[in-house]
Amino acid sequence: MRTIIRIHFEGDTLPIVQQRLRTADCGPDVATMEDVPVLRQVFAEVTLEQTDPRVGVLLARLKKDDISWMEWHEDRFTEEELEAAALLLMQPNRGCEVDGGVEWGTTFDLTGACPSCATGCQQSSALFIDGEDIPKLEGHRAGHTYFWHILVDEGLAAALEDGGVTGLSFRSVYGVMKDKRQVKLRWKQLCADHVLPRMSPSTTGIARPVQSPRLRPCEVCKRNGFVTTPEAPTRVVYRAADLRGALDVNQTWENYWSANIDGDFREAVLSRPWTVVTPRVYRIFREAGVKSFDWHPIRVEDTDR
Ligand SMILES: [Zn+2]
Repeated sequence: MRTIIRIHFEGDTLPIVQQRLRTADCGPDVATMEDVPVLRQVFAEVTLEQTDPRVGVLLARLKKDDISWMEWHEDRFTEEELEAAALLLMQPNRGCEVDGGVEWGTTFDLTGACPSCATGCQQSSALFIDGEDIPKLEGHRAGHTYFWHILVDEGLAAALEDGGVTGLSFRSVYGVMKDKRQVKLRWKQLCADHVLPRMSPSTTGIARPVQSPRLRPCEVCKRNGFVTTPEAPTRVVYRAADLRGALDVNQTWENYWSANIDGDFREAVLSRPWTVVTPRVYRIFREAGVKSFDWHPIRVEDTDR
Protein backbone atom coordinates (compact mmCIF):
# COMPACT_ATOMS: atom_id res chain seq x y z
CA MET A 1 0.00 0.00 0.00
CA ARG A 2 1.14 3.52 -0.66
CA THR A 3 -0.59 6.70 0.40
CA ILE A 4 -0.82 9.63 -1.93
CA ILE A 5 -1.79 13.20 -1.23
CA ARG A 6 -3.73 15.38 -3.64
CA ILE A 7 -3.32 19.12 -3.09
CA HIS A 8 -5.66 21.59 -4.74
CA PHE A 9 -5.04 25.33 -4.78
CA GLU A 10 -5.90 28.37 -6.85
CA GLY A 11 -4.18 31.44 -8.16
CA ASP A 12 -5.11 34.60 -10.04
CA THR A 13 -2.88 34.03 -13.04
CA LEU A 14 -1.09 31.19 -14.79
CA PRO A 15 2.44 32.60 -14.13
CA ILE A 16 1.73 32.85 -10.39
CA VAL A 17 0.50 29.26 -10.21
CA GLN A 18 3.40 28.04 -12.38
CA GLN A 19 5.85 29.82 -10.10
CA ARG A 20 4.41 28.12 -7.02
CA LEU A 21 4.64 24.73 -8.72
CA ARG A 22 8.22 25.40 -9.84
CA THR A 23 9.27 26.27 -6.28
CA ALA A 24 8.30 22.72 -5.29
CA ASP A 25 9.71 21.18 -8.49
CA CYS A 26 6.23 19.92 -9.46
CA GLY A 27 6.21 19.30 -13.22
CA PRO A 28 3.41 18.10 -15.48
CA ASP A 29 4.02 14.53 -14.34
CA VAL A 30 2.48 15.37 -10.95
CA ALA A 31 0.57 18.62 -11.51
CA THR A 32 -2.36 19.69 -13.65
CA MET A 33 -3.55 23.25 -14.19
CA GLU A 34 -6.87 24.57 -15.38
CA ASP A 35 -7.14 28.19 -16.47
CA VAL A 36 -10.69 29.53 -16.13
CA PRO A 37 -10.51 33.09 -17.57
CA VAL A 38 -14.16 33.78 -16.84
CA LEU A 39 -13.46 33.37 -13.12
CA ARG A 40 -10.00 34.93 -13.42
CA GLN A 41 -8.73 31.89 -11.61
CA VAL A 42 -6.27 29.12 -12.30
CA PHE A 43 -6.79 25.83 -10.50
CA ALA A 44 -3.88 23.53 -9.81
CA GLU A 45 -3.92 19.99 -8.55
CA VAL A 46 -0.79 18.17 -7.46
CA THR A 47 -0.64 14.44 -6.74
CA LEU A 48 2.38 13.21 -4.81
CA GLU A 49 3.37 10.31 -2.60
CA GLN A 50 2.66 11.39 0.98
CA THR A 51 6.35 10.91 1.82
CA ASP A 52 7.60 13.00 -1.12
CA PRO A 53 9.67 15.96 0.21
CA ARG A 54 8.01 18.20 -2.39
CA VAL A 55 4.79 18.06 -0.32
CA GLY A 56 6.41 20.07 2.48
CA VAL A 57 8.03 22.51 0.05
CA LEU A 58 4.78 23.19 -1.79
CA LEU A 59 2.71 23.64 1.38
CA ALA A 60 5.36 25.97 2.85
CA ARG A 61 5.20 28.08 -0.31
CA LEU A 62 1.38 28.23 -0.18
CA LYS A 63 1.53 29.25 3.50
CA LYS A 64 4.10 31.94 2.70
CA ASP A 65 1.83 33.29 -0.06
CA ASP A 66 -1.16 33.11 2.32
CA ILE A 67 -2.97 30.77 -0.03
CA SER A 68 -5.44 28.23 1.34
CA TRP A 69 -5.55 24.76 -0.18
CA MET A 70 -7.52 21.54 0.04
CA GLU A 71 -5.83 18.21 0.49
CA TRP A 72 -6.97 14.61 0.24
CA HIS A 73 -5.11 11.57 1.47
CA GLU A 74 -5.77 8.33 -0.37
CA ASP A 75 -4.43 4.80 -0.15
CA ARG A 76 -3.50 2.93 -3.30
CA PHE A 77 -3.28 -0.85 -3.25
CA THR A 78 -1.64 -3.61 -5.25
CA GLU A 79 -3.69 -6.48 -6.70
CA GLU A 80 -2.11 -8.80 -4.14
CA GLU A 81 -3.25 -6.59 -1.25
CA LEU A 82 -6.80 -6.45 -2.59
CA GLU A 83 -6.86 -10.22 -3.11
CA ALA A 84 -5.54 -10.88 0.40
CA ALA A 85 -8.18 -8.78 2.22
CA ALA A 86 -11.00 -10.46 4.14
CA LEU A 87 -13.44 -7.89 2.79
CA LEU A 88 -13.31 -4.83 0.55
CA LEU A 89 -15.26 -1.59 0.74
CA MET A 90 -16.67 -0.88 -2.71
CA GLN A 91 -16.64 2.89 -3.15
CA PRO A 92 -18.47 4.33 -6.20
CA ASN A 93 -16.02 6.64 -8.00
CA ARG A 94 -18.36 8.28 -10.53
CA GLY A 95 -16.67 6.53 -13.47
CA CYS A 96 -20.12 5.48 -14.71
CA GLU A 97 -22.87 7.37 -12.95
CA VAL A 98 -26.57 7.85 -13.74
CA ASP A 99 -29.49 9.55 -12.06
CA GLY A 100 -32.02 7.18 -10.54
CA GLY A 101 -33.94 6.26 -7.41
CA VAL A 102 -36.90 7.76 -5.60
CA GLU A 103 -37.34 10.71 -7.95
CA TRP A 104 -37.72 8.37 -10.92
CA GLY A 105 -40.35 6.19 -9.26
CA THR A 106 -38.37 3.64 -7.27
CA THR A 107 -40.45 2.79 -4.20
CA PHE A 108 -39.46 1.88 -0.67
CA ASP A 109 -41.19 0.17 2.24
CA LEU A 110 -40.67 2.28 5.36
CA THR A 111 -41.68 -0.47 7.81
CA GLY A 112 -38.97 -0.70 10.42
CA ALA A 113 -37.11 2.29 9.00
CA CYS A 114 -36.07 5.29 11.07
CA PRO A 115 -39.16 7.56 11.32
CA SER A 116 -37.00 10.65 11.07
CA CYS A 117 -34.70 9.87 8.13
CA ALA A 118 -36.03 6.58 6.58
CA THR A 119 -32.63 4.92 6.94
CA GLY A 120 -33.19 1.17 6.98
CA CYS A 121 -36.09 1.34 4.51
CA GLN A 122 -36.43 -1.55 2.07
CA GLN A 123 -36.63 -1.00 -1.67
CA SER A 124 -39.93 -2.45 -2.86
CA SER A 125 -39.82 -1.98 -6.65
CA ALA A 126 -37.49 -2.29 -9.59
CA LEU A 127 -34.88 0.43 -9.96
CA PHE A 128 -35.95 3.33 -12.16
CA ILE A 129 -33.33 5.60 -13.70
CA ASP A 130 -33.37 8.73 -15.85
CA GLY A 131 -33.91 7.55 -19.43
CA GLU A 132 -31.71 10.39 -20.71
CA ASP A 133 -28.79 8.86 -18.83
CA ILE A 134 -29.04 5.46 -20.59
CA PRO A 135 -26.23 6.41 -23.07
CA LYS A 136 -23.90 6.94 -20.10
CA LEU A 137 -24.03 3.17 -19.47
CA GLU A 138 -22.67 2.38 -22.92
CA GLY A 139 -19.19 0.89 -22.90
CA HIS A 140 -19.50 -0.04 -19.23
CA ARG A 141 -20.35 -3.32 -17.53
CA ALA A 142 -21.17 -1.80 -14.14
CA GLY A 143 -22.00 1.60 -12.74
CA HIS A 144 -24.04 3.29 -10.06
CA THR A 145 -26.65 5.96 -9.49
CA TYR A 146 -26.01 9.22 -7.65
CA PHE A 147 -27.52 7.38 -4.69
CA TRP A 148 -25.19 4.40 -5.00
CA HIS A 149 -27.64 1.84 -6.37
CA ILE A 150 -25.25 -0.56 -8.12
CA LEU A 151 -25.97 -1.53 -11.70
CA VAL A 152 -24.41 -4.49 -13.52
CA ASP A 153 -25.08 -5.63 -17.06
CA GLU A 154 -26.85 -8.95 -17.55
CA GLY A 155 -23.62 -10.78 -18.32
CA LEU A 156 -21.99 -9.59 -15.13
CA ALA A 157 -25.12 -10.46 -13.14
CA ALA A 158 -24.93 -14.00 -14.59
CA ALA A 159 -21.23 -14.25 -13.74
CA LEU A 160 -21.97 -13.29 -10.13
CA GLU A 161 -24.76 -15.85 -9.96
CA ASP A 162 -22.65 -18.57 -11.58
CA GLY A 163 -19.87 -17.74 -9.13
CA GLY A 164 -22.17 -18.71 -6.27
CA VAL A 165 -21.79 -15.27 -4.68
CA THR A 166 -23.78 -15.11 -1.44
CA GLY A 167 -25.78 -12.24 0.04
CA LEU A 168 -26.97 -10.67 -3.18
CA SER A 169 -30.19 -10.39 -5.07
CA PHE A 170 -31.02 -8.66 -8.31
CA ARG A 171 -33.77 -6.28 -9.34
CA SER A 172 -34.82 -5.18 -12.79
CA VAL A 173 -33.74 -1.76 -14.07
CA TYR A 174 -35.97 0.54 -16.11
CA GLY A 175 -35.20 3.79 -17.88
CA VAL A 176 -37.94 6.41 -17.52
CA MET A 177 -38.20 8.25 -20.82
CA LYS A 178 -39.30 11.86 -21.40
CA ASP A 179 -42.79 10.67 -22.42
CA LYS A 180 -42.94 8.65 -19.11
CA ARG A 181 -42.53 5.33 -20.92
CA GLN A 182 -40.62 2.79 -18.82
CA VAL A 183 -38.08 0.89 -20.87
CA LYS A 184 -36.66 -2.30 -19.39
CA LEU A 185 -32.87 -2.29 -19.68
CA ARG A 186 -30.46 -5.18 -20.11
CA TRP A 187 -29.09 -4.28 -16.71
CA LYS A 188 -29.71 -5.52 -13.17
CA GLN A 189 -29.50 -3.75 -9.84
CA LEU A 190 -27.19 -5.55 -7.46
CA CYS A 191 -28.76 -5.53 -3.99
CA ALA A 192 -27.06 -6.50 -0.74
CA ASP A 193 -29.34 -8.38 1.63
CA HIS A 194 -27.18 -8.46 4.75
CA VAL A 195 -26.43 -5.45 6.96
CA LEU A 196 -23.15 -5.63 8.86
CA PRO A 197 -22.88 -4.43 12.47
CA ARG A 198 -21.24 -1.08 13.12
CA MET A 199 -17.67 -0.51 12.07
CA SER A 200 -15.00 -0.55 14.76
CA PRO A 201 -14.17 2.86 16.31
CA SER A 202 -10.64 2.26 14.95
CA THR A 203 -12.00 3.13 11.48
CA THR A 204 -10.53 6.30 9.99
CA GLY A 205 -11.54 8.28 6.93
CA ILE A 206 -15.26 7.60 7.39
CA ALA A 207 -16.74 9.82 10.05
CA ARG A 208 -19.78 11.73 11.17
CA PRO A 209 -18.87 15.42 11.29
CA VAL A 210 -20.37 17.22 14.25
CA GLN A 211 -21.50 20.22 12.23
CA SER A 212 -21.59 20.95 8.55
CA PRO A 213 -23.87 23.47 6.87
CA ARG A 214 -25.04 21.07 4.15
CA LEU A 215 -25.29 17.90 6.23
CA ARG A 216 -28.16 17.06 8.52
CA PRO A 217 -27.16 13.84 10.30
CA CYS A 218 -30.13 12.07 11.88
CA GLU A 219 -30.04 12.31 15.65
CA VAL A 220 -32.77 9.67 16.06
CA CYS A 221 -31.03 6.62 14.59
CA LYS A 222 -27.54 8.13 14.23
CA ARG A 223 -27.06 5.80 11.25
CA ASN A 224 -26.58 8.43 8.58
CA GLY A 225 -24.52 11.55 8.10
CA PHE A 226 -21.33 9.57 7.56
CA VAL A 227 -18.93 10.95 4.96
CA THR A 228 -15.45 10.17 3.71
CA THR A 229 -13.07 12.70 5.18
CA PRO A 230 -10.29 14.31 3.16
CA GLU A 231 -7.73 14.40 5.98
CA ALA A 232 -7.45 10.66 6.49
CA PRO A 233 -7.49 7.85 3.93
CA THR A 234 -10.48 5.50 4.07
CA ARG A 235 -9.38 2.70 6.42
CA VAL A 236 -12.33 0.66 7.59
CA VAL A 237 -11.91 -1.69 10.54
CA TYR A 238 -14.34 -4.33 11.82
CA ARG A 239 -14.15 -6.41 14.96
CA ALA A 240 -13.65 -10.07 14.06
CA ALA A 241 -16.76 -11.14 16.01
CA ASP A 242 -18.88 -8.70 14.01
CA LEU A 243 -17.97 -10.37 10.73
CA ARG A 244 -19.19 -13.86 11.65
CA GLY A 245 -22.38 -13.40 9.66
CA ALA A 246 -20.74 -11.59 6.73
CA LEU A 247 -21.55 -12.87 3.25
CA ASP A 248 -19.89 -12.17 -0.10
CA VAL A 249 -22.01 -9.03 -0.52
CA ASN A 250 -23.05 -6.89 2.46
CA GLN A 251 -24.08 -3.36 3.23
CA THR A 252 -22.76 -1.19 6.02
CA TRP A 253 -24.85 -0.13 9.00
CA GLU A 254 -23.41 3.34 8.45
CA ASN A 255 -25.14 5.39 5.79
CA TYR A 256 -23.45 8.01 3.65
CA TRP A 257 -24.69 11.60 3.68
CA SER A 258 -27.94 12.80 5.26
CA ALA A 259 -31.57 12.36 4.28
CA ASN A 260 -34.53 14.63 3.75
CA ILE A 261 -37.93 12.97 3.82
CA ASP A 262 -40.04 16.05 4.48
CA GLY A 263 -42.89 16.44 2.02
CA ASP A 264 -43.58 14.32 -1.06
CA PHE A 265 -41.56 11.09 -0.92
CA ARG A 266 -40.78 11.40 -4.65
CA GLU A 267 -38.68 14.41 -3.70
CA ALA A 268 -37.00 12.67 -0.77
CA VAL A 269 -33.26 12.35 -0.51
CA LEU A 270 -32.24 9.09 1.13
CA SER A 271 -28.88 8.38 2.68
CA ARG A 272 -27.22 5.22 1.42
CA PRO A 273 -24.99 2.48 2.78
CA TRP A 274 -21.63 1.40 1.44
CA THR A 275 -21.35 -2.04 -0.11
CA VAL A 276 -18.77 -4.42 1.36
CA VAL A 277 -17.73 -7.50 -0.59
CA THR A 278 -15.26 -10.37 -0.51
CA PRO A 279 -12.31 -10.45 -2.96
CA ARG A 280 -14.27 -13.12 -4.83
CA VAL A 281 -16.76 -10.46 -5.91
CA TYR A 282 -13.97 -7.97 -6.64
CA ARG A 283 -12.32 -10.55 -8.95
CA ILE A 284 -15.51 -10.93 -11.00
CA PHE A 285 -15.80 -7.13 -11.39
CA ARG A 286 -12.10 -6.84 -12.25
CA GLU A 287 -12.33 -9.59 -14.87
CA ALA A 288 -15.25 -7.69 -16.42
CA GLY A 289 -13.00 -4.61 -16.70
CA VAL A 290 -15.12 -2.52 -14.32
CA LYS A 291 -13.47 0.77 -13.34
CA SER A 292 -16.33 2.65 -11.69
CA PHE A 293 -15.54 1.60 -8.11
CA ASP A 294 -12.54 2.04 -5.84
CA TRP A 295 -11.77 -0.87 -3.56
CA HIS A 296 -10.46 -0.47 -0.02
CA PRO A 297 -9.31 -3.50 1.99
CA ILE A 298 -11.00 -3.80 5.37
CA ARG A 299 -8.86 -4.55 8.40
CA VAL A 300 -10.17 -7.04 10.92
CA GLU A 301 -9.21 -6.47 14.53
CA ASP A 302 -9.05 -8.97 17.29
CA THR A 303 -12.18 -8.93 19.39
CA ASP A 304 -10.75 -10.35 22.59
CA ARG A 305 -9.22 -7.06 23.63
ZN1 LIG B 1 -32.62 8.33 11.34
